[in-house]
Amino acid sequence: MRLRNVKGSREAIASSEFTINDPEQYKGKWNTVFGNDNPIYIEVGMGKGRFITDLAIANPDINYIGIEKYSSVLIRAIEKRKEIDIQNLVFIRMDAENICDVFAEEEIAKIYLNFSDPWPKDRHAKRRLTSKEFFARYNNILKNDGVVEFKTDNRPLFDFSLEQIPEAGWEIIAHTFDLHHSDMNEGNVMTEYEEKFSSMGNPIHKLIAKR
Ligand code: SAM
Repeated sequence: MRLRNVKGSREAIASSEFTINDPEQYKGKWNTVFGNDNPIYIEVGMGKGRFITDLAIANPDINYIGIEKYSSVLIRAIEKRKEIDIQNLVFIRMDAENICDVFAEEEIAKIYLNFSDPWPKDRHAKRRLTSKEFFARYNNILKNDGVVEFKTDNRPLFDFSLEQIPEAGWEIIAHTFDLHHSDMNEGNVMTEYEEKFSSMGNPIHKLIAKR
């Protein structure tokens, strides 16, 4: 994602009622943030947040947490969030590398990864959100019957993921190289990147993984 520094975004995020500062303090008790025991779904690398916001509006009985590394992007999600009256969506500005400091074992019911940064150089493979290093982190926080759902238009990243995920000890229970023309598309909610790349004619790839 091309990043422009948005002046004051870090301060605006820190003071937003929709951002959880010091998220480590809620490890094992995220239900207290939402005031209920509904399942918690997270999106890692949510960008401007359209996908997770649309899901939260459509599914009031599920709690959503959007995770994004950069303030200049997250601020856009917060601006949209202010305009809607829902109780089931909050954001964290953090690097997902530290996700195990923030969520306890089995605290999360589903993880979404959408159009994750490809990190094309081999020496950066560990930074890819579908690397086995990241799946080891997801293993620590996801419920036993939980799933990871991943979408991308980047074929090399998708092929890498199809190899890495089984190597990490997970099973790919469904996948497609052309989501929008497959039966996996039923109920699909588009992300900002998905809309942009599919309108350029790129096929969208999707996989679902469980342990
Ligand atoms: N998911 C959105 C979509 O599909 O429209 C945004 C996709 S964008 C290419 C990837 C986003 O993931 C960027 O906003 C980037 O800052 C974020 N990101 C990448 N690595 C991350 C990490 N380790 N922790 C948190 N966010 C990350």
